[in-house]
Order: sequence, then C-alpha cells, then structure tokens
Amino acid sequence: MQFKDTILTQLHLALHGCLGLFCPVSSVRAGRDWDGMNKKVLIINTGGTLSSVAKEHGLTPGLTTDSMLQELHVVAGEAELITLEFSALDSANIFPEDWVRLAQTISRQRDNFDGMVVIHGTDTLAYTSSMLSFMLQNIQIPVVITGSQLSISNPVADAMENLRCAIYMAQSGCPGVFVAFNRKVMLGCRTSKVRSLSFDAFDSINCDNIAQISSIGMKINTHLLPKRNGIFRLQDHYCPDIAVIKLFPGIHREILEMYADNGYRAFYIEAFGLGGMPFLGHDFISGIRKLTEQGSTVLVGTQCRYEGSSLEVYETGRRALEAGALQAYDMTAEAAVTKLMWVLGQTDDPLEIREYFQLNLCGEVSVPGGSAQIGK
Ligand code: ASP
Repeated sequence: MQFKDTILTQLHLALHGCLGLFCPVSSVRAGRDWDGMNKKVLIINTGGTLSSVAKEHGLTPGLTTDSMLQELHVVAGEAELITLEFSALDSANIFPEDWVRLAQTISRQRDNFDGMVVIHGTDTLAYTSSMLSFMLQNIQIPVVITGSQLSISNPVADAMENLRCAIYMAQSGCPGVFVAFNRKVMLGCRTSKVRSLSFDAFDSINCDNIAQISSIGMKINTHLLPKRNGIFRLQDHYCPDIAVIKLFPGIHREILEMYADNGYRAFYIEAFGLGGMPFLGHDFISGIRKLTEQGSTVLVGTQCRYEGSSLEVYETGRRALEAGALQAYDMTAEAAVTKLMWVLGQTDDPLEIREYFQLNLCGEVSVPGGSAQIGK
C-alpha cells in the first residue's frame, strides 16, 4: 500500500509479548489528532461485512487490517493506529468464548491506548457490545464497536463513515463501551440491530444516543455517559446454560420443563406487551413457578422493542412476579440475555441474582425507583 506522509511500522514482536495472542499486528502513525493531542487507538478486527470479500459460498470476512490500512489511514485523521487481527468471522460465528477472549485482550491492553475500536459483524454486534459492557465495567477508556452493511471494498459502502465515527469516539476520552454506526454513537448495552439492510441499522433503545455527528461536528451528550463507580476489574465469568423463549398464543408450558430437564438454569422469556403471559388454559405461569421453586432464574421482558416491561400492571404479569420471575424493565433483549449469562457467572445465590436485576450496572436498564445511572 502507498501512503503519503505515513510511517508504517511492523510491531508484531513487541505486541505479541503483551497480548499473548498469535495475531499479526501492524501500525500506522499519522500525525496529530483532532484536539491536538497525539492519541493512540487500537483497532481490533473480528471480521463481519466491513472486512468481507465475495467468495464461492457468499460474502465472507477476508480483508485483514493490513489490507485496509489505506482506508483506515484516511479516516483516522491524525491518530496513531495499532491494528490487531483477532479473528475473521461472520458474527453469526461469534461465541461467548470469543467475548471472553476479546474482553481479556481489551483488559490487557487498556493502559497502552487512549481508546479502542472493535470491527465486528453487525448481526450479533449488539450481543457483543452488551456483554463487553458487563465484563468491562468501569473501563477507563472508550471501547467503540463498529461494522458496516457493505464491505469497505465497495465504493458506496458505509464502512468508512462508521470507522471514522468509531475512531473519533475512541479518541474522545469518554470511558465506556459504545457502538458507532451511521454517524451516531450509542451505549453498547442499549443498542439493537433494527434493520437488516439499511445503513441506519442500529437504534439506541430506551436511551438517547450518546453522540451524533452532524455538520457541527460530534456532539457528545455527556450527561448520558456511564458513570465510573469503582476501579476497573475484568469480570469475564459467564454461564452458558440460558434458554430464550418467545411467547406465542398457545405455547405449551412443557417447553420450560424440556429445557430444565436438559440442564438449563436460567430463562429469558419474551412475554407480551408489558410482560403478560397466560395463566388460563395453557398455564405458563405455573411452569414458571415450578422452575423458580427448583432454583432456576426466570427473567421476563417484552416482545415490544420500545418502552420495556412493567409486570405489576396486569394480572398476567403480576402472577408471574408472584411465581418468582424477575423483570427486565426497559433492557434490550441483547442486554437481558447477556446480563443473565453474566450475573449467573458471578453468583448462584438466588437473593444476589435478584439484587443484580434491581441494579443498573452500566446503563443497561432504568429500574423504576432504583438508582438509574443513565439518562431517563
Ligand atoms: N453477516 C454479517 C455479520 O454479522 C453481517 C454484517 O456484518 O453486516 O458478520
């Protein structure tokens, strides 16, 4: 690749020492950044459409950060970029083990960078950004996840804009886990993929955008930023034995027993409206009571994307609470599922689990009457 005014440095050996990973690493140094300070940003590439190429079996992640250096250089302004090949995966093939490895890499490198950008497929990006928000609570730098709907090699792609926004946010000095997409920055644990084709693929759910880029530049709503309420400590334990059940009229409650008999310890139930579920005919709520009496955790949210659950309102919800269910309030499904996995990785004690779900850990939820950290 040809770069004007750019010194390319291969740092493979130096970084392999600290990362303990067998990934090729390279660096592009490009001068001074937007606020006059020389900011250093780590770009971690996990794959996804942004780095994809067309192959015999369809689009597949295949471009390395080395082959994208020219484009990265264009959008990085004057920041110093260090790049790390983490994986080349369609995000459908990202698993909780990858979240742990990613969180560990970020944790190990956090003192060496002003910010980090994670390139990720859009399909499961919101799960990764949610889980990283829990695992990396109180991180002192911005960790910004991005991707795109078209490959960076496509001249009309959204990739460059999304990278530009992510790299810019990574230099902002605002600590936390964020998603940058379509000129907006969202809290990682409030983001959902809401469109499968459009460039405006992600929304911030039940929480305003953290930042927006317009002709006046990037405006950061500082009052929405997650508050650091302690020192950083990597918390990468999780429980994989989670079942997600979406209710539909006529669903048999035996489905709960089938999961429980197969070792599943926790359930996220996407219920109707404010969190209602049947207790006549197919009595689902008695199935929930049985699970909670056996020591399983049942978290109930809503199928509605916006405005959350409030199980106290209807008998169909209140009976579920009386049966021992916890509620997800206004969490996204991605945050609810990953919080459940994460909380069960921290404790087995039913009282502690209940307490965790009354807490807003990193901006993921507004608990009515609780200590909401973020916004509304
Ligand atoms: N299938 C791709 C992925 O999630 C979609 C994308 O990146 O937009 O990896």
